[in-house]
Amino acid sequence: MGQIDYDNRTWAEAIRTAASQRALSHAIILAGSGDTEAAARYAAAAHLCRAESGRPCLTCSQCRKVMEDIHPDVVWVRDTERKELAVKDIRQVRRDVYIRPNEGERKVCIFPDCRQLNPQDQNVLLKIVEEGPAYAAFIFCAPTAHSLLPTIRSRCVEMHVAGGEEAASESADKLCRILTEGSETVLQHLISLESSRLKREELLETVDGAWFLTAEALLVNSGKPTDNETVSLLARSFDISVLNRLNGLFAYYRGQCRYNVNVGMVLGAMAADLRHILRR
Ligand SMILES: [Zn+2]
Repeated sequence: MGQIDYDNRTWAEAIRTAASQRALSHAIILAGSGDTEAAARYAAAAHLCRAESGRPCLTCSQCRKVMEDIHPDVVWVRDTERKELAVKDIRQVRRDVYIRPNEGERKVCIFPDCRQLNPQDQNVLLKIVEEGPAYAAFIFCAPTAHSLLPTIRSRCVEMHVAGGEEAASESADKLCRILTEGSETVLQHLISLESSRLKREELLETVDGAWFLTAEALLVNSGKPTDNETVSLLARSFDISVLNRLNGLFAYYRGQCRYNVNVGMVLGAMAADLRHILRR
C-alpha cells in the first residue's frame, strides 16, 4: 500500500469534515478511478476512531487496526474467484450485520467492488441499509456509482475518488493541452463536451484532474522536476500567475460540479471564466 496524502484528497477532507460533525453517513458510495479501497479504509477508520476530534486520527488502536485490515468489526465483502458475489455471501452479510460489534461502536461492511453485486443482491442490501441496526455502516466502492441501483444510491452519500497523477483522466489531460492552444480552441472544446452529453461525474473527474495537473505545473515552475508531458507543457506555456488563476478556477468548479446538477450551466460558466483568464 503506497503512502496516501490524506490532507490533499477531496474525499478524505469530505470524510473528516462529516466525521468531525458526527455526521458521517452510515451509507457511503465511493466512486471514481482513484483508490476507492484506500478511501473505504479511511472512512471505516473515521467510523471507529476513538479520538475526541480530528477523526480519523490514524493513530488510536481502532484506526490502526482498520488501516491494517485486522479490525474485527470491519467486514470486507468480496469474491476474488468469481465475477459476482454468491447468494450465500449476501446472506452471510445479512447475518453478520445483526451481530453486535466486538470492540468498536459500529460494524462496517465494505463492498470493494460493487460490480460484483447483481440487482437481487442490491435489493437485499437495500433492506439492510434502510432497516438494519443503528450501529451498522455500509461502504460501497465502484469505478462509477452507476454500478448501483438508483434505490441504493438514493439512500447513500456519494463521494468522488479521483485518480492521482498517473490516473489523471484522459479528458483532464486533453483539456489541459487545449488550454495552451488559446481561448477559442478551449471554447470549442467545451461546447463539444456539452453536446456530447457529458455526465456530471465525468465532468467532475475532468475538472479534478485539471486541478491536479495545474497544481503540479505550479510546482514545476518552482523547481520540482516532472516526467508528465502535460504538466511540463502547462509549465512552459503559462507563468505562475496564470497557472495560479487556472488552478483556483478548477478548484472552484470542482465544488460547483458537486453541488450543481446542471452540467451545461457549469460548462458555460467555466468557459466564460477560462476565456477571461486566457485572453492576452
Ligand atoms: Zn483514531
